Formats: sequence, C-alpha cells, structure tokens
Amino acid sequence: MPLDGTSLVSTMRGVGEARARALAALGILTVNDLLHHYPRGYQCRGDVRTVESAAESARENGALPVSLILTVSAEPSFRVIRRGMSVLKFRAFDETGVCEITYFNQNYLRDIFHTGGQFRFYGKMTLEGGRKCMSAPIWEAVAPERELAAIVPVYPLSAGLSQKVLSQLIREAISAVGAQMADTLPPDVLRTQSLCTLRFAIENIHFPADRAALARARRRLIFEEFFEMGLAMCALSQPETSPGVPMQPVELSPFLAQLPYHLTGAQDRSVREIAADLTGGGRMNRILMGDVGSGKTVVAAAAAYIAAQNGYQTAVMAPTEILAAQHYRELSALFAPLGIQTALLTGSLTAAQKRRVRESIAAADGATVVVGTHALLSAGVDFARLGLVIEDEQHRFGVMQRASLAEKDRCAHMLVMSATPIPRTLSLVACGGLAVSRLDEMPPGRQTVDTFVVDERYRTRLHAFIRKQTDEGHQVYIVCPAVEEEKKEKLPDNAEELASILIDDETADERPQLKSAVEYAGELAAEFSDLSVAFVHGRMKPAEKDRVMQAFGAGEVQILVSTTVIEVGVNVPNATLMIVENAERFGLSQLHQLRGRVGRGAEKSYCVLVSDSQADTAQVRLQVLKKNHDGYAIAEEDLRLRGPGDILRTGGVVRQHGTMPLTLVAGAAESDVMEQAFDTARALLAEDPLLERPEHAALCRAVREVRQAAASTMN
Ligand code: ADP
Ligand code: MG
Repeated sequence: MPLDGTSLVSTMRGVGEARARALAALGILTVNDLLHHYPRGYQCRGDVRTVESAAESARENGALPVSLILTVSAEPSFRVIRRGMSVLKFRAFDETGVCEITYFNQNYLRDIFHTGGQFRFYGKMTLEGGRKCMSAPIWEAVAPERELAAIVPVYPLSAGLSQKVLSQLIREAISAVGAQMADTLPPDVLRTQSLCTLRFAIENIHFPADRAALARARRRLIFEEFFEMGLAMCALSQPETSPGVPMQPVELSPFLAQLPYHLTGAQDRSVREIAADLTGGGRMNRILMGDVGSGKTVVAAAAAYIAAQNGYQTAVMAPTEILAAQHYRELSALFAPLGIQTALLTGSLTAAQKRRVRESIAAADGATVVVGTHALLSAGVDFARLGLVIEDEQHRFGVMQRASLAEKDRCAHMLVMSATPIPRTLSLVACGGLAVSRLDEMPPGRQTVDTFVVDERYRTRLHAFIRKQTDEGHQVYIVCPAVEEEKKEKLPDNAEELASILIDDETADERPQLKSAVEYAGELAAEFSDLSVAFVHGRMKPAEKDRVMQAFGAGEVQILVSTTVIEVGVNVPNATLMIVENAERFGLSQLHQLRGRVGRGAEKSYCVLVSDSQADTAQVRLQVLKKNHDGYAIAEEDLRLRGPGDILRTGGVVRQHGTMPLTLVAGAAESDVMEQAFDTARALLAEDPLLERPEHAALCRAVREVRQAAASTMN
C-alpha cells in the first residue's frame, strides 16, 4: 500500500517495533507527524575549511566545529585498551596538512575507514602539542554520485534514534507524500505574501538547498502558524452574543468617596469600560491587565460594588490561599465601611467554619463578595445570586482555561486580572475573545527600583550588599532558575556544535553554568549563619511552601532563596533587594515581575540581575530592564528583541508543543511575519467570515484543528 500522510510510521520500511516506540516518544505516529518534526537547528557542514586554516582558528579562538574533507593516509590502528574500551585511530590529510582522528568504542568503523578513502568530517579541532586532532567527528563518505548537503538538519531525538536514521525516515516520507501535499494557504495569500508552497517549505525546512531556501521555508511555515492561530482567535472573538446577568448603572461616588486617593486616569477608564459591559445586556468577558502595583484591586472592587448595588454576589478567585487571604483583607477593608459583607472560603478553614461560610453564601442576605481559590466555583458552593466572577491570574496567562470556567455559570459576568503585560500586537492571540482594559499608568508616588546588571566578579560585593540590607532590618529575595527546568530542556549531546543559523545564540557555546538553587541556598546559609535563610522550590508541597512564605512575610526569614515560584503575588513591603541569578534565562517580562516584588514599601529598593552570559543579546536585553520601569514598554522591547515566541511561551499562552504549534517561532525576525499573518487573517475573515468558500476548505479544517487543540487544554 502506498504511503500517505495519515499512514502510521510503523508501516514504513525500516520501522520496526522499537523504532516505532522511539518515534512515538517524540509524538510521531503518522507520516504527517514525521514531516512536521522540524529540526531544532542546523549544522553548516558546507563551509569546508583546510586543515591549516582550521588549526589557525583553533589557535586563535579555541575549538570550534569545522568541516574538513580529508583522505585517509594509512590503515587505521585499532586497539582494545581494556574491557569494553577500544580506540580506532588514523591520520587523514588534505593539501595543507594532516589531522589525527580518533573514535572510541565504535568497532564497526574498522570497515569504513581505509587508506585512500575520502570523507567529510565535522567536529572540533584541538591542538595537542604540534598535532592537529579531532575526536569522534561526524563523518560522511565523499562519493562522486551524490553531493553532500551543505546544511544538515539536527533533530530533537529520543533514546534509540540517531540523526541519520531520523533524517533518512523524513527523506523517505517527503519522497513518498511530497507530491500529494495539499497547500492549506489559499493561492491568493501565497501570491500576495510572496510565500513558497507547502511542499517547498517542508522540503527545505528539513533539507535546505541553501540559506535563502531555508529562510523562505521558515517564513512560510511561521506565517502559516500565526495565520491559522489568528483565524482561530478572530473567530473565537466574534462578539459575545450570550446574555449576561442584567444590571443597572450605579452611582459610584459612595464607593469612590471612601478611597484615600483618586483613581488614576487608567483606573477610571477601566472602571467605565467594565460598567458599560455590566449594564450593556451581554455577558462581560474582559481582562484587566496591569503591572504589579498598578491598582487592579480597586478596579475589581468597583466592579463588585456595581454588582452588589444590583443585588448580585461576586466570586473572587486567586491562584493560591495566600493570595486569596490577601485579597480578602484588601476587599473587606474597602467594603466594610459600605456595609457590604465579605467572606473568605479556603481549604484551611475548619469544617465548621466552612459550613458557616457556605451557608452565608447560599443565604439571601449573606455574604456579597466571596473570596477563595480557584476551587471556589467547583467545590459545590451554592451561590444565592452570583452575578460576577473575578479571576486573579497574576502571572499565569492561560486564556484557554478561562473559557471553561466561564461555562460553570453561563450568565455570570467574567473579569480576569492579569499582571502580565502583553504587547498590543499580541493581544489577539493572547487574549482570544476577551475585551482588554489596560492599566498603563501607575498610581502617583511609586518609587522606581534601581536595577543593576552584574557578573560573577561582583559576588563578594553582592554579599556585602545583602549584609547591608539585612543589617538595616530589611529582607532579600534571591531567585534562581529552576534546576528541573534545565533537565527538561536538556540539549542533545552535539548541541553546542550547532552552527546557529537559527537565531538561537544561547544554545551556542556561551551558555553559562546554571547556579543551583539548592547549593546556593546552602552557601548563603553558611555565609549568613547569623540570619535565617530559607529555600522554596517547585517540588515543595503547597502547604510547605505557604509556611515558608508566611515566615518570610512575618519577617522571621531574612533571605529567601527560591526558584521562580515566588512570582505568584506576595507582598512583603520590608523586602528591599531582589537578586536574580542567571538572569539571562528569564524573559524580560518575567524579570520585570520579579523586580515588582520589591519597592513596595517606603524604603529605597534594588534589583540586581546576575549574569555571566557573554552573548551580546543577553546583555542588551538585561540593559532594557535597567532603563525601563514600565511593563508594557518592556514587553514591547522583548518582542522586538526576541520575537513573540518567548512572550507567548513564558506567558503560558503556548503551554506545550502541539497545543498551539508555535514550533518555529524563534526570534525577532518573526514578529513582522506575525503581524502580516494576523492582518491577512483579519482581511480574509472580512471576506469569508465562516471560511465557507471552497478554496478555503483546507484552511477551515486546519483552523478547526487549532481550535480543538486549544480547547482540549482547557481545564
Ligand atoms: P495590583 O493588584 O495591580 O498589583 P494593587 O491593587 O494591589 O495593585 O494596588 C497597589 C497599591 O496601590 C495598593 O496599596 C493600593 O491601595 C494603591 N493604589 C491603588 N490605586 C491607587 C491610586 N489611584 N492612587 C494611589 N494609590 C493607589
Ligand atoms: Mg493585586
């Protein structure tokens, strides 16, 4: 039976049970999956050097991967050094010199390398004494009948698969189904956007004819992903037609009069946008986006006030118990003077307390504003008259899961609060069908946190600075990248050898060592043995984590070392110093949010970003934080420097591979492709809103898949 895209890979020649399993581990089940398993980088083996020039650059710049075409000068020597350890060694030459090549434990190579054989070797050259050496270079036989590829793909692998096997399978898949590959993009779009065909794109993303072809292939595939995503999201954002709980306009002055300040312009605008939604007949579906400290709480409270004056309850949900308790304190302070009853319902209440709160929520004259964790709606709590659901997402940005929550009460209005500023150009994908209110103005009198970018040489001074802050009675946060994250993204063995044609400079040589949070916490505890140093990390049980956080909040802990878990809104005004280790690993928006943990009290506060990365881009990015203190400006800058991939990923919009297959989104060069794709999507929908035209059939199917994938991640 001839192969087609839906054929299982196990029906391919050369794929037995073991290989099928190895492929399945990569999520590859069908021939189509194989075609869409894109390389993670490329090796530039076409740039062939001479032994002499390779040696020269090794002398000057140290060992870098090079490509050499060499002839084997004499029969290899083969030795078994000890049990299970063998060495194959030979010399090979070109017109400029001789290189010594060694392989370990690859006995079958004895049949490959013989005097006079010509090979292309790709690997690092080292100089040992006067000798030029390569250890275990990648080799390819030079044969007159076929040309060696100049650019060679490097794939994500799983155990039991090699680059050679995987690329051979992909080559077969392309030759079997390439001709039948139907283009999802309408011909008009291909023409107006000067995009290559799907077939060209798939062929060249895997086996680029040259750099230009690779660039065209990438552009086409990235365009397609954003285009379909844009279509899916535009379709999702069709105006909400479902009716909402009906509310009447409300005089807000009693609420505003008791605030100790005036609303900022941005708060005032947002409150008016929300009021219009609540009283407009339809169901509100809005996101309130604002930096940490921009004053989202009072805006949310104004919304709850409107609901209360209309006789409706509001459920306020926070991601953690600590945050729920914090919201409860803030909201009950605002509402108590107005005679509006506020209740807190969390897991840590006693059974009797819970029962009382539940009864109050279910009673006609009970609690009006109910604060809890996300379990609030699912835990079978019976609201007497729920009218508004406010969800505080803090720094997660899971637009997709939100919709499902809204399902729980079809008519209640929805307001989501997020501290992740999303650039305007990304709102469409990031915010889906939600209307956006932006708090892009800080309340007056906020201090700016002085920010420094330093490297390892400052360690001693940094410790002195920690000492100074704690001597003054202040507290310190130290954030390290999560160690387990590092394992997950572990690169293939030859990763550092990748010539980074893709804009992925940190996978190249200069990746600094990760500071281990565990070890560092230990070092600090020893150095500051008179202080209390605590450690929180992602693998801790939530209750344990809460305990440490509470101790920090109470001032019992002076130095808190953590992986990024502290991001989720803690408010400790006495903390005046935020140190971020391996800062190059974090997205700028994430760093900005971390910085927002300090500078919350009256005391001058500082943020120190520690990075040993030599990569120019890393330094440029970190300097952005030094100069900017506005979350939107930072997010826009991040988008400009790194492209949309980072923001969408770290923002949690794209959670996992395949959810929204932003497989290719890599760098800054792509943000203009994204905008073009969104614009084109909007234009297309203006003409064919339901994608009903025959020429859009394939596209319609693809968009439906994107939406299904998105919907399946709702939880
Ligand atoms: P967010 O939730 O957006 O991080 P909050 O709502 O917690 O921010 O507000 C941060 C602080 O700013 C609070 O102490 C709040 O009382 C104060 N605040 C809010 N709005 C104003 C304003 N318009 N003027 C002055 N202070 C404000
Ligand atoms: Mg808040």
